Amino acid sequence: MLNSHSGVVRSDGSHIPISEYFGELTFGLGQMRERLPRDAYQDLVRSLDQGRKISKQTADAIAKVIMDWAVKRGATHFCHWFQPMTGLTAEKHDSFISIQHSNHSELKVIERFTGSQLIQGEPDASSFPSGGMRSTFEARGYTAWDPTSPLFIIEGPKGNNTLCIPTVFFGYHGQALDNKTPLLRSVQTLSTEACSFLKLLGDVDVKSVMATLGPEQEYFLVDKEVGSRRPDLLMSGRTLLGAPTARGQKLEDHYFGSIPPRVQAFMEDLEHELYRLGIPVKTRHNEVAPSQFEMAPIFENISIAADHNTLAMETMKRIAARHGFMCLLHEKPFAAINGSGKHCNWSIANDKGENLLDPGHTPHQNLRFLAVAAVVIRAVNKHAGMLAASIMSPGNDLRLGGNEAPPNIISVFLGSMLETIYDSIGKGEAARATEAQIIELGVSHIPDVAKDYTDRNRTSPFAFTGNKFEFRAVGATANVAVPSCVLNAAVTDAFTECTARLKTQIAKGVARDEAVMALIRELINENKGVLFSGNNYSAEWREEAKRRGLPIIGSAAEGLAVWNNEKATEFLVSTKTLTRDEIAARYHIHMERYVKTSEIELETTLQLVREYVIPAVEQQLARTYGVTKDAKLEALKTSMGHRLGALERTMTDLLQYSEGLHTSLGKLNELTEEPLKVDLLVKETKPLAAKLRRAADQAEQEVAHEFWSLPKYRELLFHPSMR
Ligand code: ADP
Ligand code: MG
Repeated sequence: MLNSHSGVVRSDGSHIPISEYFGELTFGLGQMRERLPRDAYQDLVRSLDQGRKISKQTADAIAKVIMDWAVKRGATHFCHWFQPMTGLTAEKHDSFISIQHSNHSELKVIERFTGSQLIQGEPDASSFPSGGMRSTFEARGYTAWDPTSPLFIIEGPKGNNTLCIPTVFFGYHGQALDNKTPLLRSVQTLSTEACSFLKLLGDVDVKSVMATLGPEQEYFLVDKEVGSRRPDLLMSGRTLLGAPTARGQKLEDHYFGSIPPRVQAFMEDLEHELYRLGIPVKTRHNEVAPSQFEMAPIFENISIAADHNTLAMETMKRIAARHGFMCLLHEKPFAAINGSGKHCNWSIANDKGENLLDPGHTPHQNLRFLAVAAVVIRAVNKHAGMLAASIMSPGNDLRLGGNEAPPNIISVFLGSMLETIYDSIGKGEAARATEAQIIELGVSHIPDVAKDYTDRNRTSPFAFTGNKFEFRAVGATANVAVPSCVLNAAVTDAFTECTARLKTQIAKGVARDEAVMALIRELINENKGVLFSGNNYSAEWREEAKRRGLPIIGSAAEGLAVWNNEKATEFLVSTKTLTRDEIAARYHIHMERYVKTSEIELETTLQLVREYVIPAVEQQLARTYGVTKDAKLEALKTSMGHRLGALERTMTDLLQYSEGLHTSLGKLNELTEEPLKVDLLVKETKPLAAKLRRAADQAEQEVAHEFWSLPKYRELLFHPSMR
């Protein structure tokens, strides 16, 4: 049963439970254990544990079972699947077939897949961005199999399927050329540093710590026929023009409203496909804006979750097309209504599977919980600038609205439960606390509170939500590997610092639990500045944040500067997440992407105005001139005069601003230094385009509908099939 169109019903009409087809398109360590010869599997596990190379023999044995499995499922090709720094995924397909010469020199085609083809690929990668890390004579990038992430099959439209091998992508000297490698590195150091800390806390037998991630994905669905008549959606994934509708999201009736049947059909198909790919999606619902929806997976190991999120995004687009939809993953597809985020729910768990941010059942677990949460607060406060920089993009710049998390000032929301506890600890009320006294503080009630944890702040960029932190300011298109590795590294750095501080205390002879309480108190008092439970949009908060000395990263352009700031990025080096060279490369790549994305948007805006808006206003003007000329009634003459005046003003604005934008784009083209381009974009080109857009949106409201050939927001967002 591998036909994705067959739904979840057997030929006899009975329903197939999800558990029966979950992961049927994947091949992971479980299947390898089942199918590999014992010694080959043991060699693989040993290599994984010790981080050493797999022997050629083992690699060949693994390749063989993988190929057998894949070919049976219709795979004709394989590809090394990786995540270049452009934020998308990349793949290069190769056929399984190989030519064998038989005795009579006859050609014979066989399926062949070797261990070396599995383990290492050498894509012609000179065109992937490397930020200057590879000079041309060594312009190669290599891909290497990441055995911790399951292989998977993507079905071709004609049944020629492709086996995808999750890989990391690196240069000749081992420089990370992708987003996955730094994430994997950060996971490792986080585990080491968290273990040292936990051992001091009394968890002497802790072996490893794993970061977990559950990324909620918001998106818009637009009818494909209507959407594809918008060149801006096709070019940049968002609308560059468009006057707001009367309805907007005023009624907020879409949120958790009933899902339209057409969308429900898409969601069912999507979920079916994601289950087959082993992606555990759990919830689905409407979001705040019209035609906006959300999908949330069950959390997983952070690096798997990151792979799964990119794969899910690709699958969403593919399945949407099948249903006649365009799936918009942009942070702000429409002005004046909510944009889309990707709330990254993050936590850490020990090797027993205990969530370290879950208030526990014993006094020790509670103390550990309070300590670990305080370490995270410390991490966010110390590295707020870089955390903000990790999520800034031209798209996320636009994502500021009533119900969204502003990404430019990173603060932490704790909720009243945790706030109260930390408050009393901070005031020293438990200065000489023993475990018993912590219970007196009310900590013993935490498990009950956590169960119905309803305290939410929708404007907080980084919120504690009962048993995890939710990094809410991440944008919908982001590759979660980027903010994830920065967050991991920040927390790792804080663990290292706190371990040292705790050691000093214990060396002085302070009893363990007392030392831990003292550390929590210090951490809370020192990092109070990052805690904020009010409205993150208020002007007062901006002022207050300034007073508190929190970094305010106004835009993606300012975020770029953080990547270029040695002091701000030092922890990425010390936690072995990125080298100096790799950070510099990322700075250049982000800058290049900022410039290119902006250029595409600005050029498309200009084209739209010239090809659609101005001609429409010309038609309207011609008609209005006629009516005005023929008007007999004095009152009508006057009114038509006003109307004409307004139209002429709009037309003048359109012509002047488009001329200005054209000139500014020309200047931009002549600049060779990227930082100068960013500067011009921010100071001149973008503000001009914003004025031009205002004029175009004004025109939309002054011109007859019949002259306006671009589908309007009304048609895009309130399509009859979406009710
Ligand atoms: P809400 O919309 O209220 O934030 P959702 O149910 O939509 O809640 O999403 C919560 C997300 O948090 C899910 O993806 C869930 O798997 C994830 N999550 C829950 N526990 C953890 C954890 N320990 N670590 C990481 N993510 C978690
Ligand atoms: Mg949510």
